[in-house]
Amino acid sequence: MALRALTAETQRFLTAEHMQWIGGRWVPSACKDRIASIDPASGKIIAYLPRGDTADADAAVAAARTSFVQETWLSIASHERGRILQRVADLIECHADELAELEAIETGKLFAHARHGDVAIAARAFRYHAGWCDKLDGSQLDLSAFGQPFACQTRREPLGVAALIVPSNGATAITAWKLAPALAAGCSVVVKPHERATLPALRMAELLQQAGIPDGVVNVLCGSGPAIGARLAEHADVDVVSFTGSTEVGRKLLQAAAGNFKKLILELGGKSAAIVYADADFEAALSGVAAGIFGNAGQVCVACSRIYVERPLFERFARRLAQRAQALRLGAAFDEESEMGPLISEDHRAHVDAMVQRAIAAGAVALSGGAYPNGAGYFYPATVLTHTDASMEIVREEVFGPVACVMPFDSDEEVIAQVNDSRYGLAGSVWTRDLARVHRLTAAIQAGLLWVNAHGVPDVAVPFGGYRQSGWGREQGREAVESFTQLKSVMIQV
Ligand code: NAD
Repeated sequence: MALRALTAETQRFLTAEHMQWIGGRWVPSACKDRIASIDPASGKIIAYLPRGDTADADAAVAAARTSFVQETWLSIASHERGRILQRVADLIECHADELAELEAIETGKLFAHARHGDVAIAARAFRYHAGWCDKLDGSQLDLSAFGQPFACQTRREPLGVAALIVPSNGATAITAWKLAPALAAGCSVVVKPHERATLPALRMAELLQQAGIPDGVVNVLCGSGPAIGARLAEHADVDVVSFTGSTEVGRKLLQAAAGNFKKLILELGGKSAAIVYADADFEAALSGVAAGIFGNAGQVCVACSRIYVERPLFERFARRLAQRAQALRLGAAFDEESEMGPLISEDHRAHVDAMVQRAIAAGAVALSGGAYPNGAGYFYPATVLTHTDASMEIVREEVFGPVACVMPFDSDEEVIAQVNDSRYGLAGSVWTRDLARVHRLTAAIQAGLLWVNAHGVPDVAVPFGGYRQSGWGREQGREAVESFTQLKSVMIQV
């Protein structure tokens, strides 16, 4: 077993007293209660975090509001703001090991995945959005209204104070996916990381200041969703909430946001499908689908938890996927031989296992996994289920764990109907060599992002978001930065 040792920087940060970042400095919470941060691979406490309360949320919103009203960020020339965001990307790359180690130790995500996936994605998000700072243009119209000539212009203005609520599985990358476009748009922000995935956002706050983001523009809170997340969602001085998390919490935000009609950008849960045709490149489809469901122990919003395989290929595909699943080495984030890490918490493992046991009781057959090992850590084996159908909870509801339902299909019409029979519509993939079928299926499937002969490959330039109960709005691409702005029209009589 080759164990990677933590860098000195990570050890120093881990052992420091953690506070919240408000107005450009570390601020202790008045609430003396603390949250124990636990390494999910060992169950051991690695740090204590403040349990922020509503007073902390109010202080962070006030700092953001003041910086927005005083235009501390917006008064910097747009090209210079772009340079600052580029410097953030440089600093993320300089501190990549440290950020990846913090995410890995706190969430159990494999270090290599965090380092070469999440942290690289975070740097790229800042580089990409840096370019938008001086390109958010409006349009010009010359027209005549009631016989009078007008020159009309539209301009994009920042929405104001943005609350950025981040889930457990994207402590570095999803934080950056939200921060970079919000800052490029000119907003001031309050970040609310998940209580089990907080350390990278706290470290990033220091890096943002070092890059030149003025104090008060970025604030980071620590604490529970029902306490500070809910407070941000209802706060009259928050203009927009960008939330990534479960559909159930998203529904609560709808109600909380009604008070001041704040804008909501919602990136919610999914039950994404992979459709594998008999003419697909078998080995490529097997590897892509296995990575698509077992990557990060299935704790991925776009995980292909429903796998539809054309009948002639079905038995072979299911058997080979189960063999892959059985061969995956479960292990800690820093063990270089680990191929799949633990789930985020003991509670979440109990939730995943309960769903699997209910599926088995309803007739599902586990070709691999289906029961978790004794011992330390919240590990759950890669599980492949057959004999599942659309009437079962395991096929309808998100598991957010390494659990695949493999089901046969006989025709395009049948598989399209099954895939679309879901309250979710986040993502999906089609594996085939038939181009006409690619066009037919990608038009017919109701989901926000589809891959062909790939699954789960993100890119910050590609708009991403859900149909139906998988969300509102789009992250990534130009849509992401524009979603933190509002359009003003000016009619000048000439
Ligand atoms: P979660 O909904 O439990 O928590 C998400 C965030 O919301 C956390 O910061 C949490 O503290 C906060 N929160 C909880 N209750 C709240 C409340 N009442 N008011 C305001 N905030 C509250 O989700 P999770 O377990 O962190 O992440 C898993 C979920 O996120 C899955 O459903 C997954 O599909 C989804 N997800 C979606 C995307 C996407 O882009 N669509 C990406 C990643 C994860």
